[in-house]
This record gives sequence, structure tokens and C-alpha cells, in this order.
Amino acid sequence: MTAKKYDAIVIGTGQSGPSLAARLTKEGLKAAIIERKLFGGTCVNMGCVPTKTLVASARAAYMARRGGDVGVTIDGPITVDMQRVKERKDAVVRQSNDGVTNWLRNMSNLDVFEGHGRFESPTTVRVNDHLLEAHKIFVNVGGRAMVPDMPGLEEVDYLTNSSMMEVDFLPEHLIVVGGSYIGLEFGQMYRRFGSQVTIIQRGDRLIPRDDDDVSTTVKEILENEGTEVRLNAECTSVEKRGEKVAVKLDCDGGSKQVVGSHLLLAVGRRPNTDDLGLDNAGIETDSRGFIVVDDQLRTNVPGIWAIGDVNGRGAFTHTSYNDYEIVVANLFDNDPRKVSDRITAYGLYIDPPLGRVGMTEREVRQSGRKTLIGKMMMTRVGRARERGETQGFMKILIDAESKKILGAAILGIGGDEIVHSILDVMYMDAPYTVIQRAVHIHPTVSELIPTMLASLEPLQT
Ligand SMILES: Cc1cc2nc3c(=O)[nH]c(=O)nc-3n(C[C@H](O)[C@H](O)[C@H](O)COP(=O)(O)OP(=O)(O)OC[C@H]3O[C@@H](n4cnc5c(N)ncnc54)[C@H](O)[C@@H]3O)c2cc1C
Repeated sequence: MTAKKYDAIVIGTGQSGPSLAARLTKEGLKAAIIERKLFGGTCVNMGCVPTKTLVASARAAYMARRGGDVGVTIDGPITVDMQRVKERKDAVVRQSNDGVTNWLRNMSNLDVFEGHGRFESPTTVRVNDHLLEAHKIFVNVGGRAMVPDMPGLEEVDYLTNSSMMEVDFLPEHLIVVGGSYIGLEFGQMYRRFGSQVTIIQRGDRLIPRDDDDVSTTVKEILENEGTEVRLNAECTSVEKRGEKVAVKLDCDGGSKQVVGSHLLLAVGRRPNTDDLGLDNAGIETDSRGFIVVDDQLRTNVPGIWAIGDVNGRGAFTHTSYNDYEIVVANLFDNDPRKVSDRITAYGLYIDPPLGRVGMTEREVRQSGRKTLIGKMMMTRVGRARERGETQGFMKILIDAESKKILGAAILGIGGDEIVHSILDVMYMDAPYTVIQRAVHIHPTVSELIPTMLASLEPLQT
């Protein structure tokens, strides 16, 4: 079969592929893009967009129940219509999905192929009956939920973040295996919808990559609303119990099993590289299947780049989009941007949310440098008190010699937004005194950042 020739091929339409296709074609290149499932990938269809839409419904239910705290009377019980919740989520997702789909379909100089793309050589990719050839190939295939090798799983119905998208009913008791971002967001959301929720975490802390004080406070926030959190509990097997599912635990304290109506597995993600024909192209992966890239996202094979979650250098929509920016800056703009210029930044969308940038306190301690720390509880923040939402704290770490900001965590109302004022100063590479001398608006959470910076103390080792 003769191959159809292109200047560039993009495999996957995640958070960087479509923007990349737009720039490639704008630069006059003839390009092809391949998608095997839903245009827009994980974020649009079963990740950020739907979960944050569902979080909004869950927060509305929470606030309605809390109406009495602020003097608002709602007669009758607060109930959640899960079908309407799902319909609203579907409508928001559809809008985003339609946007990407129409954008790609109407892009001049771009051919869109629907099907599974697989390398046949370093320059050819097969999709359905088509063989495509190009000397520039960009892999944006993302990842999927990891399903652990747990005895009994083949006999029970379990949910992942993808199948959760179809839930239009209220699970009586949702068991969430995994105490990291995805598990916690779903856990709190379903508790607020009205389910009984048990979160099972094998280690001694939730969100283990974060600091102890963050993990502990997140656990308290969840427990305050009646979510059961089981730490140090390893799931050993699952089994069907009539209509229910039982999860057996290896744990020191507490019951050795949890019986619930539904089981959500949220134990991590794996890259979609197992059926991509990488061997045919000679593309190197690491031990977990992520494609190995250099600082400018080139694989070991000239003319092939890997962008987004698949390269293991980021696991977020903003890191995937930044990968696109890095690639085009290097290809077209004579601007040598690189991954190592990126400062760690992410949000955890429980309510109140966590905004995190730069190094954790643990990483700073490990680095051994002289450090200043500032911390303020949300109970001291007027805006939080006025809103009656005082859970959480903010914390900032400063290099004692250079006065540069090393990292920060804001766990509290607006934390996901407020943390950007700190992130931007970090990108400016300016000293913390720039924020400390800034006059912030009253009454906001942000106005307490200069106050926190005025009371820095040495980080005790
Ligand atoms: C529940 C959940 C919530 C999340 N919330 C957030 C959040 O709030 N903020 C945030 O920043 N990130 C969040 N993420 C992570 C975010 O969704 C991803 O980091 C983001 O989608 C980047 O992915 P990507 O560009 O690498 O590719 P993806 O978005 O994963 O897209 C890859 C695409 O490639 C396609 N594909 C795969 N293999 C092939 C093949 N062989 N041929 C053709 N097509 C193929 C897939 O079908 C998919 O459409 C969340 C993820 C999940 C699961």
C-alpha cells in the first residue's frame, strides 16, 4: 500500500494536539490528525471539564444544606436530581467537545482520521486502512485509568473516572480506592450528592506527594462532611455480595472489609503507549511506559516528539498545553523554550480547593537550604470568616539568602486562583518583597499574603 504523504502527523487530540495542528497548518504544513475516541481527549470528555462541572453541582447542594448557617431558610430536605446533574455535565462537555471537533474538521490543510493510530516505522502511521507518512510526527495520546491486578476484580462491576461519567443515579455507598486527586474529588462530590462514601488509601496519608499539614487538613475537610477515610489500608481482594461489593483490607486497625454498593478505582493513570507500535519506530519508553523525551520534548527518534501526559513530564492540562507551546516555539519561533523552565503548579478541586506551586516543604527540607516559612490559618482571614468558610491555611517558603519564593500552598476558599499571584512572581524570578510591598484589595484572601510575608520565620530543621 502506498502511503499518503504529509508534512506532519499528530496522533491524539488531547490538550496539545489540536493547538499544534492549528499552528502547523498555519505555517503552511499539510498535516493529519488521528483520534480513536473523543475529540478533545481526557480533559474535555472525562477529566477536568466534567469533574469541575460536577463539583459545582455538589457545592450547590452543600451550600443549600448550609443555608441555615448564614440565616437562609430552605423549607424541606435538600435533594439532588442526579439525572439533571448529569444532563448539565453532559451539556457543558458537549459544548467543549463540539468546539474542538468543529475546529479540527474545519481546519484548512488538515485531514482528520478517526481510528487507532499505530506506528509502522519511524515515518509511517497506520490508521484503519490508511497508511500515513510524515517526517514530523507528534504523539499526544495521553493516558487512561490504571486498573490494579486485584483478585476478584473480574467478577465485580467497578467504575473508573471514564465510566463515572455515565452515572446518573445516587450510589448508596461509594467505595473509592485511591486517596489522590481523582479519588478525593469524586469522593467529596458524591458525599455532597448524598452517598455514603469510604475512601481507602494504602499509605498513611492522602495526596502523598503533598506536605503532611496539607494531607491532614484535606482529610479533616472530608471527614467533617461525613466521608470515611481509611488510611494504611491495602485492598487485597474484592468480591460480589449479592447486589453489593466487598473490599477486603489488609490493615492494622478498623474493619478488615468495607461493603458498599459501588466501587470506584482511582489508583493512578497509565500512558496509552502499549498499543502504539513504538517498537516499529524504535521509540524509547521508561519502565512505566512513558515515552522518554529531552527538555524540548524530542524523543530518541529524530522527527518524533511526545507531548502531554504520555511523556511523564506533566500530568495536567496546563502542562500538556505548555508542551505544545514549547514545541512550536522551538520549531517556528526561534525561541528555545524548555520543560525545565516550567514551575510545578496544580490544583486539587475539593472544596475548599488547594492551589500548589513550586517546592513542597518536604522538598525544601530535603534540599537543606536556609529557608524562611510563613503560614496563616484561614480562620485569621477576614474574607473566609465573612463567608463562613474558614477551613484550611496558606503557607509560603522563601530562600533565606536570595529572598526568592521556593513554593506555596493555599488550601482554602479561592486557593486555586489566589496562588497565581505567587506563581507569577516566581516566574518573574523576583524576591518575595515585591508581593509583601504590594497593596492588595480588601476584603480578599489575597490581602493576607503580604501580611503572611511580613511574619516569616526561619524553617526549623
Ligand atoms: C478525572 C480527571 C480529572 C482531571 N482533572 C484535571 C484538572 O482539574 N486539571 C488538570 O490540569 N488536569 C486534570 N486532569 C488531567 C488532564 O485531563 C490531562 O492531564 C490532560 O487531558 C492532558 O492530556 P493529554 O494532552 O496528554 O491527552 P489526553 O487528553 O489524554 O488525550 C489523548 C487523546 O489521544 C487519543 N488516543 C490515545 N491513543 C490513541 C491512538 N493510538 N490513536 C489515536 N488516538 C489515540 C485518546 O482517545 C485521547 O482523546 C484530570 C484527569 C482526570 C482523569
